[in-house]
Amino acid sequence: MTVTKGKAREKKNTVKTAKIKVSEKTSPKAVSASDQVKQHDCDPCEALDATFKRQVQGVLGRDENATNDMYSALASTIKLQLLEQWRETRLKDNQYQQKQVAYLSLEFLMGRTLGNALLSLDLTDDTHAALKQYSADLETLQEAELDAGLGNGGLGRLAACFLDSCASLDLAVVGYGIRYEYGMFKQKLVDGYQVEQPDRWLREGNPWEVRMANHAITVPFFGHTESYVDLKGHRHYVWIDTQDVNAIPHDMPVPGFRNGRINTLRLWKAEATDDFDLAEFNDGDYTEAVARKNLAEQITMVLYPNDASENGKELRLRQQYFLSSASLQDIIQRYVAVHGTDFSRFSELNVMQLNDTHPSIAVPEMMRLLMDSHGLNWDQAWAITSKSVAYTNHTLLPEALERWPVRMLKHMLPRILDIIYEINARYLEDVAHHWPGDNDKLAAMSIIEEGHEPHVRMAYLAIVASFSVNGVAGLHTKLLKSGLFNDFYQLWPDKFNNKTNGVTPRRWLAHCNPRLAQLLTRRLGDSWMTDLTQLTALNAFTDDKAFIKQWQAVKYDNKVDLTKLIAQECEVVFEPEMMFDVQVKRIHEYKRQLLNILHVIHLYQRIVADDTEGLQPRCVLIGGKAAPGYAMAKQIIKLANNVAHMVNSDPLVTPFLRFAFLPNYNVSAMEKICPATDLSEQISTAGKEASGTGNMKFMMNGAMTIGTLDGANIEMLEEVGEDNFFLFGLNADEVSQLKPHYNPQQYIQQSPALGHVLEMLKSGHFNLVEPGIFDSIIAAIEDPYDQWMIAADFEAYRVAQEKVSQVYADQHHWTQMSIRNTAASGRFSSDNTISAYRDEIWHAK
Ligand SMILES: *Cc1c(COP(=O)(O)O)cnc(C)c1O
Repeated sequence: MTVTKGKAREKKNTVKTAKIKVSEKTSPKAVSASDQVKQHDCDPCEALDATFKRQVQGVLGRDENATNDMYSALASTIKLQLLEQWRETRLKDNQYQQKQVAYLSLEFLMGRTLGNALLSLDLTDDTHAALKQYSADLETLQEAELDAGLGNGGLGRLAACFLDSCASLDLAVVGYGIRYEYGMFKQKLVDGYQVEQPDRWLREGNPWEVRMANHAITVPFFGHTESYVDLKGHRHYVWIDTQDVNAIPHDMPVPGFRNGRINTLRLWKAEATDDFDLAEFNDGDYTEAVARKNLAEQITMVLYPNDASENGKELRLRQQYFLSSASLQDIIQRYVAVHGTDFSRFSELNVMQLNDTHPSIAVPEMMRLLMDSHGLNWDQAWAITSKSVAYTNHTLLPEALERWPVRMLKHMLPRILDIIYEINARYLEDVAHHWPGDNDKLAAMSIIEEGHEPHVRMAYLAIVASFSVNGVAGLHTKLLKSGLFNDFYQLWPDKFNNKTNGVTPRRWLAHCNPRLAQLLTRRLGDSWMTDLTQLTALNAFTDDKAFIKQWQAVKYDNKVDLTKLIAQECEVVFEPEMMFDVQVKRIHEYKRQLLNILHVIHLYQRIVADDTEGLQPRCVLIGGKAAPGYAMAKQIIKLANNVAHMVNSDPLVTPFLRFAFLPNYNVSAMEKICPATDLSEQISTAGKEASGTGNMKFMMNGAMTIGTLDGANIEMLEEVGEDNFFLFGLNADEVSQLKPHYNPQQYIQQSPALGHVLEMLKSGHFNLVEPGIFDSIIAAIEDPYDQWMIAADFEAYRVAQEKVSQVYADQHHWTQMSIRNTAASGRFSSDNTISAYRDEIWHAK
């Protein structure tokens, strides 16, 4: 660690022990995992003190009594601790000793940085100590940090977990993304309806970022192309009269876990170029010039809040090209700085991993840069591009596959469209060769979808150009090969591979669940933090009475903590003695929050009817955001809130059942939720959830899963065994077989419980003063075209939930199962996933 010890003395004279507003919590704080293990070393602690003091006092207007100011002083202190290692890592990687990976993603759902940085640098204890004299409390300061919510959900959070694992595995990986001025919207509830508010996460500045203005890149838009033939007879293309936008890097540190590596997340901010407005300034049109400046800066203003689906927005395409072009130019510049313009080693030394199709416009952009800027011919450029791009698919929902109107590309990115046409023409020769005379095949597989309004199919573009195409769980990859991308699989079987998702055990266990982390470390040592498979050793303790007691105490205390959040945010009192049954994720029909709500209504009816035999008291929690334009998802939120109101206001019901909808679900909320959960709801329609990662966070923290055979649930079940998992419902094959002759009425007749629930919904019991508002939900359940098959799975779900109650009644048994779930979660560390990317796709050290 780099610290300036000489300055540590200064503090004595000036520090007043000002009282900081400390949270009134009196519950005993969990001690960090390393507290117990490590002897306290006070040198770094003093040095930390000194830097911290300078940060507090050195910034004009910083107030020791203001939590926000103290947070930013602490963040700046820790950033200073990072800078030297960060610089060393960068210098080392710039020498290209090992393969460089660029992870291109329109989303990085990072959450907070402070706690994770302290954990990675092993500075948690020193920071606790250094804060003492300020009477400041680390937990309170951590809460002052706003989440970096630059993502929608699973896909963006995956990118964040991957960066953590790459740094911890000492891989030279740069994350490339967009520095959205406004991240994921803040969700408020008004009368039970979702209301979106802008997320001004940069309002008070971002102490973690470093603006790198000297590394700015220029990205062209609009204009037109011309061609000329050189003296040797080669044709060249130029893209001219463009409107250029500056891309300014804002770098965020990504510390590896106690290994000295600090990787970079490079987020691009769009700014107007000087010459953008100069002409108009000179013409005297000042206001037009300023307005145009805003147009350029719009590009990085806001994250699109659609979790899959709703394509076609021009600004979104501009974001995609802006990210792709700036990142590739940056990568090529770094390569050229070492190797010059000899690109023969480029693909041996670089990989670009595309996180879904969002950055797939990088493919023609790479071709453009190699040909138009560096003089390579088509074949040379294609050989390099197609050996350095790899694509990860994230969804099976056909409506989520991105397509862009040709017309839009022609206007915005004319040179790029030309290149896409050329890629397509050459690739279709391969198709024709493989399926001679099959014109339907050509049309079906063409990158250009013909029709009244021709479109570019971005997934096809990504597949054609990539040397690797991967799905994110075993079932997902299998379905890609047999369904959505079957034609491509036949053409290039070797491109396709599976990489089951994972989550980082640093954030999702060590950081968010210090009580459990401490218990694990006391029993197993702390190497589980970098080798999660070591948790299998917990299976030896499932009959250890003392251990079981400790395990239960950890869960109980975590539940007490979550109870406070629920009381604050939902005004519902959860009792830690009751079972915590949780479903948090984006609201989507395929994830079937509706099935969960129907079950809550069923429990409510049983309790009201005094049929409580065998019922275990439960607190049900649902949380998640709906895309602002997704009407059905918003209705489901409203239904949850109305049902919650009825449940929670009936004193006969609340001893058995409580129900809350938590607003504004995000990474920081999940850090409190998953350690406190008993039962994790992973109940998507089989074949629809590509992988899921929330499921893994819960499993690591000892929750039991009730779930379908979907996504990574299948692999979780494989690891933990059927005895420790509540499985129910149709499998993916059964869903697709049932689809053409699905008759929900048949299932409603066969399940009296479902019949009663629907009757009550139809009676308006939950919307007495708002007649008709749930009609569309009721109609969806009874619709033979309900592709989510709510009615078909209800009865199996209800039965599985009865089993849950039975098992929960035997706390000893339940706890044994809980331990086995954590013990079996090692495979779902993103370290494991990234090791497979490294060995099988990236071929990096
Ligand atoms: C893990 C996570 C997700 C993904 O959850 P799924 O259940 O896999 O959809 C979404 N949002 C946040 C904030 C997360 O932490």
